[in-house]
Order: sequence, then structure tokens, then C-alpha cells
Amino acid sequence: MDSLDRAALEHALRAHVGRGATWEEYDRTLPGSNLNLVLDHASRHVAAEFVLYWVVGGLPEIFCLKVGGVAAIAFHERYLLLTSLLRRLMLDPISGGSIREELAERVLLKFMAEYALQQSQGELAATTFMKALVGQHVFLADTAGLLALEHHTRNEVYMAMWFYGVLHELGHLLRYPPGTSATDVLSDDSLYGAVTRVLAELPYSRSEKEAILHAARSDPDHLLSASRLRSEGLADAFAATMLLETSIQVLSRAGNQFSIDRFLMEQFMMLKIIATLEKCRLTVQAAVSPTPEVQQRVPLHEIAMAVRALIVREHLRHTVLPFIRGWFRKTRLRRAAKLLDAVTSMLEADIAFFDKGMERAMRFVLSWRAPQPTLLQAFAAEVKDSFIHQMDSRSFLGLADSFGTRSPGLDAIRKAVSP
Ligand SMILES: [Zn+2]
Repeated sequence: MDSLDRAALEHALRAHVGRGATWEEYDRTLPGSNLNLVLDHASRHVAAEFVLYWVVGGLPEIFCLKVGGVAAIAFHERYLLLTSLLRRLMLDPISGGSIREELAERVLLKFMAEYALQQSQGELAATTFMKALVGQHVFLADTAGLLALEHHTRNEVYMAMWFYGVLHELGHLLRYPPGTSATDVLSDDSLYGAVTRVLAELPYSRSEKEAILHAARSDPDHLLSASRLRSEGLADAFAATMLLETSIQVLSRAGNQFSIDRFLMEQFMMLKIIATLEKCRLTVQAAVSPTPEVQQRVPLHEIAMAVRALIVREHLRHTVLPFIRGWFRKTRLRRAAKLLDAVTSMLEADIAFFDKGMERAMRFVLSWRAPQPTLLQAFAAEVKDSFIHQMDSRSFLGLADSFGTRSPGLDAIRKAVSP
């Protein structure tokens, strides 16, 4: 890559992450690095030259930018921390369900507030942030700093948390054998068939279902268009295969036993986390732009994620076959399907509380009002006595500054934390 390419790439990266973020190019020659092992393994299937940037500050996201023939993969430090936090909220047995529900609501409100800052929606950001903090008496012990994640036991959880997002982004740069393309792998018909299957389970009328399918077929930017679903579905499937292959290598290098059940659990967990963060972003968009088109994106996104889960599931049914016992392929495929069903239904039961917290956070944001006097007073009174809330508020205000977002509500938070 020449210096002009690199300059163009970093210019695009700056435009995306905002001026408050910093980055460093990851050293691809670092010996013994599991990230390099994963990147080397995956890069054999990738068409474009790419650089991995470790991003600090700004919004927690993992994304891929292509400029000309080269690509930047941005790996955000806090995305990793947020992923680990959401995973713990979904799965770890932290006391009762209602506490889990409350903590999920607060974490998601905070993420939506940050996203609102990026969208220059200062009042929505301020009221959502205050709502996330006011009345909090239960805190999740934050043992999952970056160092803890670096030294995490080399197991299925570690692999999915660290590498799923990066592998998914590399999946958007796939190279296909000459004469073939992505449509050979996932045709339009098979994708719309999957959408139809998902819609069949949902309480829409027949004419509404037809209208959704018609809109998806006629607009390539529609959330359910074949081109979008194909791109995301193939990136997911690629990430699943690469994660499986590299997990086996990394775990065996560390002398740890690989479990296909645990691997599948983490795989679907990551899909859930990605779906959740995207849903938060769409909810903020719907809250600030209440047009029917934008409002409809949240339910359409749910359908898109269900289709992606179907694609990954079908892909994994074949990929996991080496781990399934049996003499006949047909029997093993049936057993693989059973295993996948068991894993997904176990996950659904575990995350029911998390989903309730998500619903509560969404309801607040969708019916938001500028910060009301009672909320302002409660926030000002509580933040005075809480070191954690003061720290949180300062970093939130720093993010507001980095996006250049200002509003009376943000000024009120500033006043409440100023000595
Ligand atoms: Zn993607």
C-alpha cells in the first residue's frame, strides 16, 4: 500500500470515528499474537489488502471502510469492553432476574445516549443519560477491564468476544473463485424464501407481509433487500467458519479442551449482541425522526437479524458435522440440527430478562422528552454523592465535546458535576 492510499484510508477513518478518537495500526508481525493468528488464517480468503486499526475514544464500533482497493478494519477498544459487559448481563448468573433486567436497561440507555450524541441530539442524549444513572443502587463489578480480557482464559468465550466482530468485517471483503460470485452461494430466491419463513411467524396481515416483500425487492437499500441480506449473511457465515477453525487452534495451543456446544452458544450470543447494538442505533434514529419510514426500521431490522440467524444456522449445520457422531450423513445432519435447536432455545431462555431491559430502554427513548425538572433534580442530588456517576458523567461530556454536541440538558449535567 502506498502512502497516498494510506492517507486516503486514514482520512475516511477520521471522518467516521470523529475527532475525539485516536488510533494505532496493529503490528501484524507481533509474535505469539492470537489476533495475528486469526488475521493470517482469514486473510487467505480475503480479496483486498487491509490494515487493522486499534481505535480508542469515540463510539464503540467495529467496522470496515474500503477506499479504492484497500480496506481499514477499525477495532474499537470499548466495543470489546461493551461486548464483554453485554455478554455478562445476558449470561452470568448475577443475582436475580429483575436486577439483570435493570442493569441491561441502564447499560443500553447509556449506549443510546452516546449514539444520540454522535447524531447531534444533545437533549435526547442528556435525558437518556440521566435516566440511565438516576436511582441506580446495583452496580456490576467491573472486573472486565482490557487487561482482564487480554488475560482471559483461552476458551470459546475469549475467541468469540475478541475475534467475531473482526472476522465478520473481513467477511465483507471475501474473494470468490473465478467465474463465481456471492449470488451463487445465496441466491435472491433463497433469501426472499428465508424472509417469507420469518414473516410467517410474525403477527402481520397477509397484505402487510406482501407489502414488506415488495418493498424489499424494489429497493436495494431496503433492510431486507437480497443484496444487503446476502452481504451480511455471508459475512456471518464466514466469521462462523473462521472462528471455529481458529478456536480449535488457539485452544489447543493453550492446552484447553474445545467444546462445540460452548462454541455454538458464544456464536449465537455474538449475533444477539450485534443485533442489540444495531437496534439501539435504530431506536435513536426512530426517536429523532418519527417518520413512518424510519419507525419501521426497528421491526425490519428484527426480521433481517432473524434471517441472518437462519443463514448462520444452516451454514453451521454443515460446518459442525465433524463433531457429530453417526454413520450416515443424513443422521448426523439431523443431530446437528437438534444440537443447534437446543443451544438457541437455551440462549433464549437465558436472555429473556435482558430482552425485558431492552424493551424498557426502548420505550423510554421512543417517548422521550427534554430533561424534566424532577429528573434534573434527582440527577444533580445523586451525582454529588457518587464517584462512579461523576466519572461516567465526565467521560460522557468528553464524548459530547468530541462530537461538538451541545444542549441545555448537557449543560445541566456539566453543572451538576462541576466542583
Ligand atoms: Zn456486516
